[in-house]
Amino acid sequence: MRIRYDLHIHSCLSPCGDDELTPATVAGMAKLCGLDACALTDHNSAKNCPAFFKAAAFYGVAPLGGLELSTVEGVHVLCLFDTLEKTMDFDRFVYSRLLRTENRPDFFGEQLVRDEEDAILAREPYLLSGDTDIPFSEALGHAKRYGGVALPAHIDRQANGAVAVFGTVPPEGGFTSFELRDRDNLNAYKIYLPADDPVILFDSDAHRAEEIGAAGGTMHLPDGISPAEIPREILRALL
Ligand SMILES: [Zn+2]
Ligand SMILES: [Zn+2]
Repeated sequence: MRIRYDLHIHSCLSPCGDDELTPATVAGMAKLCGLDACALTDHNSAKNCPAFFKAAAFYGVAPLGGLELSTVEGVHVLCLFDTLEKTMDFDRFVYSRLLRTENRPDFFGEQLVRDEEDAILAREPYLLSGDTDIPFSEALGHAKRYGGVALPAHIDRQANGAVAVFGTVPPEGGFTSFELRDRDNLNAYKIYLPADDPVILFDSDAHRAEEIGAAGGTMHLPDGISPAEIPREILRALL
């Protein structure tokens, strides 16, 4: 079966994300866009995933949890999990490795933790768009240790893309899946991929509601699986 996905979406927890892009809005927009599966992946934090999973269940969209890890080199790596429990375990690990800088909401933007009805539960004090002390070469191993998968994010972007930072995608990372922002860049960037049969994701990296689903990503999964099995099968396809 072919499913429609968007596995890289930010919410109001990311300083650069729209303050009105609540976890429930992400799930609702995913449904409106006709997505079968979507992932909430804020910068270095999954603290809006509990609300996102509840809202996704309400709207009938298969949720993946995760975050967009900033490595010590400043490269973005998308980390995805098929359950909320694994997601939040990984969230605690990444938070312990975040380089602590106080957020300045007036300069960087608010970092809002919200519940599934959009109520503000907390404001994250440390700047989430900074780096962690986790090396690029260790990101996949850490994600796997927590039961998930990781892949270099938007390798065709100048800002925080692996190719822009390293000049290529270093094979030491061990990655077999990769994310591109723009389908038109596929041929130009294939030469940088250190895998024989790479899996390529096309995600929106949405920071505003209207951007969700814009990358038009689709994926083949085994026939006959139930909606509840979609997140696990997506991870399997990416490993
Ligand atoms: Zn990024
Ligand atoms: Zn992003």
